[in-house]
Amino acid sequence: MDEAIKAGKISVIANVILTIAKGFAGILASSTALIADALHSLVDILGSALVWIGIKIAQKPPDESHPYGHFKAESLAELGVGLIIVFTSLSILVEAVNNLIAGLKPSFELYALAVALTSAVINEALARYKISVGIKTKSSSLIAEGKHSRTDMISSLSVVLGFILVYFGYWWADAVVAIAISILILQMGGEILKNAIDVLMDKVDEELSVRIRRIIEGIEGIKSVDFVAVRGTWRSKIVEVHFTVSSEVGVEQINEIIRRIEGLKDSFSEIVRIIPVVKISEEIRRIAIPVDENDNYVGDLNARFFKIIDLKSEKSWKIQNEFWNAQKMKGYLIAELLSKNKVDAIVVRRIGEGAKNHLKSKGIIIKFAEDIENLENLIAQIKSE
Ligand SMILES: [Zn+2]
Repeated sequence: MDEAIKAGKISVIANVILTIAKGFAGILASSTALIADALHSLVDILGSALVWIGIKIAQKPPDESHPYGHFKAESLAELGVGLIIVFTSLSILVEAVNNLIAGLKPSFELYALAVALTSAVINEALARYKISVGIKTKSSSLIAEGKHSRTDMISSLSVVLGFILVYFGYWWADAVVAIAISILILQMGGEILKNAIDVLMDKVDEELSVRIRRIIEGIEGIKSVDFVAVRGTWRSKIVEVHFTVSSEVGVEQINEIIRRIEGLKDSFSEIVRIIPVVKISEEIRRIAIPVDENDNYVGDLNARFFKIIDLKSEKSWKIQNEFWNAQKMKGYLIAELLSKNKVDAIVVRRIGEGAKNHLKSKGIIIKFAEDIENLENLIAQIKSE
């Protein structure tokens, strides 16, 4: 890790020296391309500074007046830097186009060529160095930085190419290279701006939201996941989860569900805060009635079938109770079967203590009815609720 930090520092120092050298040489030789290349190096330094600021801000814990953390400060910095980059690259672009239109012939200066060539060599060396340290320290961000240095090398090399063309009389080459480089910088500035605006506007990280929703939907006792939104920077994310549990689910189980949701922080290092909101529902949408093959009410878990009534669609169907004579874990298996069929209530005449607890932990409400007449009244009553 230390080696990765050292590589980052060396890269920043090299870029600072290159920016100054290219800026001076570019102004002296009135080469718009070299000035543009200097600006490119400056943007890279600003980019590194933003990453550093971001890490510092992410370390600052939430306080009373900023309970959601301070991560948007990074986006505000990005917004400022992004605007500076866009305006500067646009002004270089305009200058290069003007030079082209005016037919301004830059003079060929050997020192400017030497500076651009040195910049290309140093950037290639930086690229190789950062990629090799990145592979060694398993730092994907350093490898990405190394690849970026390779594009910096190409940028400086195109300035060199422009100089050579100018030397052979193609005076427009310098301005054309400057235009190409400023478009590249404009693109970088645009990306920084977009990133900042997305965070400031609380744009949802859809991919992570979907992944988290899937995990939460698999937690036992949750009736429905109503709202999942992940927002924040790529480094600091806030997750808000709203879910519904049946009124049968006990306080202890609700606490366990919340513990498991908050435990997602351990699996996703970028998540800094999880806000769970629980809603308790007494609504019954699907009832299971233990019946025999002729649809007669049986009233306990020894029934061969369950008649399932969906109150919303008013449809009903029969499922087989494949665990009717299970020797072990009968209550658990049946609770699982009913839960899979999205049943929220079961009507019985009698039920054992164990099965009762299993059904409750799945959020299934237990209703009692002695006979068919009672059963019909009960369903009519549930429907009217
Ligand atoms: Zn660059």
